[in-house]
Amino acid sequence: MERLLGKIEGEMPGPLVICVAALHGNEQVGLHAFRNVYSAIKNHQIKFSGKLVGLAGNLKAIESNRRYIDYDLNRVWDDQSIAALLDPEKPPQAEDEEFLELRSMIEAESQGDYSLKVLADLHATSSDKGNFIVVPEGESGHPVIQSIRLPVVVDLDKYLRGTLLAHYYTRGFVSFAFEGGIIGTGDVYQLHTSGLWEILDKAGSIRHHDHEQEDHYARLLEEVSASLPTRVKAIYRHRIRVGDGFKMLPGFHNFQPVYKGQQLALDHNGALVSPHDGLVFMPLYQPEGEDGFFIVKEMGREEG
Ligand SMILES: [Zn+2]
Repeated sequence: MERLLGKIEGEMPGPLVICVAALHGNEQVGLHAFRNVYSAIKNHQIKFSGKLVGLAGNLKAIESNRRYIDYDLNRVWDDQSIAALLDPEKPPQAEDEEFLELRSMIEAESQGDYSLKVLADLHATSSDKGNFIVVPEGESGHPVIQSIRLPVVVDLDKYLRGTLLAHYYTRGFVSFAFEGGIIGTGDVYQLHTSGLWEILDKAGSIRHHDHEQEDHYARLLEEVSASLPTRVKAIYRHRIRVGDGFKMLPGFHNFQPVYKGQQLALDHNGALVSPHDGLVFMPLYQPEGEDGFFIVKEMGREEG
């Protein structure tokens, strides 16, 4: 499989939109969603402004259908991790090459003048109702983010170091993670496809209604988000240590209300309870990952 999933360079100037899919190798639906949107633009000769680039994230992990091989490719984009990775003394690991190639391709494609630079990082989660956008705090009101209509999660960067989205946010991109739902289901494909059309429309790459089914996609996004909060803020993370036998209790989904003291999971030390009243977020139902669960709090529209 090639890292470049597709590239469109419009005749008119406009925004740069980069989509990264399967930065976690087992979250492959974004690859198909990108190809779907890409080929629709090509096949229907939709007028395009600026540039669209699709990139596969972790090729080796995609091949083995795993989140990662040696380390999480979405936790190494901070200066300290990058310096460690470039240290010639460091024993080579599977993701080193993935990181270097992905970074150099993004950097090569970002050269030039664009009205706006957007980086959409497509993910899927292992728990139900996993449809949301993760953004840096300062960006949550951006029209491109708002156009996706899904719940917006801020302050997750206080707990997660070295994400791709944080790296490119500091380099002038409107940069966000787009979580489409449960890994490997048709819903993820539909949501990512719908969201990508909305992003391209709002960024100014295509004109409204230049593509088929615009109304269908907009309605789908509205329906999905109707029962979900608009904006939440992360207030707690349970971090998993190697060998502690973390196990989430069954049946939790994203944005499910929980109360202070309620048991959510267990490990070798016993019961793990929520330290706050709030909503449980990203409960972990897969073997790989360092974050057991988060607690988020719904924000009023007046906040931040
Ligand atoms: Zn992911």
